[in-house]
Amino acid sequence: MIATSPKGGNVMSSKPPADLVRRREMIMGFAAGSVLPFIAGCADNAALGRSQLMLVSDNQLAQLSSQAWQDSLQRERVLRDPSYQRRLQRVGDRVVAASGQTHLDWEFVVFDSDTVNAWVLPNGKVGFYKGILDIMDTDDHVATVMGHEVGHVAGRHSAERASQQMAAQMGVNLLASAIGSSGADYAQYSDDIGAALGMGVTYGVILPYSREHEYEADRLGVDFMVGSGYDPRQAVDFWIGMAAMNDHHSAEFASTHPSDDNRVAAMRAHIQARGYTG
Ligand SMILES: [Zn+2]
Repeated sequence: MIATSPKGGNVMSSKPPADLVRRREMIMGFAAGSVLPFIAGCADNAALGRSQLMLVSDNQLAQLSSQAWQDSLQRERVLRDPSYQRRLQRVGDRVVAASGQTHLDWEFVVFDSDTVNAWVLPNGKVGFYKGILDIMDTDDHVATVMGHEVGHVAGRHSAERASQQMAAQMGVNLLASAIGSSGADYAQYSDDIGAALGMGVTYGVILPYSREHEYEADRLGVDFMVGSGYDPRQAVDFWIGMAAMNDHHSAEFASTHPSDDNRVAAMRAHIQARGYTG
């Protein structure tokens, strides 16, 4: 798998000093870079405890995301009810603070639509529709979805998906030579990146994340909920409710956030493993 980083298998069980780790990883990174240029596109993600294929720069993502955000603000109608906006803001502020993703310029906007959905862009722009807020009985439910969306950002899922899509389309060999010789000019792939971002502003659809990404976002979301003082058991309640709702009618949220027994069970297992009691 090209997503396997040479530094992914960190075999030391006791924790060495951080600067030593950094130096060692730097040396290993250089060594890998000289032999297999494309592996330089891998990055460790501390939040996930795994390495990721990263061919898309944060800069590129930020540019595409801010364009997508502007498009969304024009295409959707922003809800003119300050109570909804205040609710989303107060939960968003707390969850983001707990997530450690405070380097981003977060914005939380409620759109005036009965659509049951919410999404996030990798630059920290979050959209919730009135329809999903209306079925959230408590702020803990808002924090459930907020935590999940912030989890996608902390997990760098959009960048990873864009990178995987690029890799699949280019082919690994082509990729290696392109990155080795071009000085990493990805401009020609910006359409692929845009599509893989999954916010679908250009394309009119919000692409679903992989199952792995959904589960990861769930786990991170629960961690962020607990870190910000919300009750993780209500995350389970909320997803059970969503699963029941999906059985009755095809909410848009269901197409991008499939909710089922397995997912709820995985969330319960995570809560138990971490010893969260709510
Ligand atoms: Zn998701």
